[in-house]
Amino acid sequence: MGPNFHFVIYPINQNKEFNFISIIRKELIQEEISNRNLFKENTFISNLLNQISSKSNLNLAEKVEKITCFPIFVSKKVQIPKSKNIFLTGDAFYSFPPSFAQGASQSIEAANELFNDLKNNSSNYYKSRILKTKQISFRSSLNHFAFHLSNPLNIFFRDIVLKYISKNKTFLENYLGKIYTN
Ligand SMILES: Cc1cc2nc3c(=O)[nH]c(=O)nc-3n(C[C@H](O)[C@H](O)[C@H](O)COP(=O)(O)OP(=O)(O)OC[C@H]3O[C@@H](n4cnc5c(N)ncnc54)[C@H](O)[C@@H]3O)c2cc1C
Repeated sequence: MGPNFHFVIYPINQNKEFNFISIIRKELIQEEISNRNLFKENTFISNLLNQISSKSNLNLAEKVEKITCFPIFVSKKVQIPKSKNIFLTGDAFYSFPPSFAQGASQSIEAANELFNDLKNNSSNYYKSRILKTKQISFRSSLNHFAFHLSNPLNIFFRDIVLKYISKNKTFLENYLGKIYTN
């Protein structure tokens, strides 16, 4: 976690190769966001990498290769088509803020819910989806806020709180358990 960014690294095989993903908050004007070539420019990419690398002791600027860079779209509200015969799932229904890693999981979960709904001739799909989407979106935004803090004092207190709550069973059951179990 760092000021206005966080990253995750995970192994993809047994050959010590890793996948690296970073979410970086960056202010861009509309023209820049629309300009997809900007995200392919070497200077733009290396500036972003330096921003992360300078706050980490992992020597990322030398280690990270084959970088793909793109803006992330986050939904403002859920999409429910007017036609009663059309159901949206996944990112088309709602694109989550990226800090809870739930987009794909929820797409799969929603597809299963929709299947059961249609099979049972029920009409609960959107009701339960909206509830779950709100729960996840709230947690994702909260994570995003906490992960990207930049004030050293706030970071100090965040780290103490995280140390405590990451071992607290009640918190984990409420914060994560509600999402990971149906
Ligand atoms: C960097 C990154 C990391 C992520 N990490 C995680 C994670 O750790 N865990 C997690 O749960 N989620 C994660 N997500 C989110 C997850 O990838 C998405 O939420 C999920 O893929 C959404 O699934 P979907 O089927 O709704 O849409 P998509 O996976 O986007 O599938 C839509 C498909 O439709 C195709 N398509 C678009 N337009 C047309 C057209 N006109 N005609 C035909 N085909 C079309 C697209 O090419 C695409 O293949 C991550 C996302 C990103 C960007």
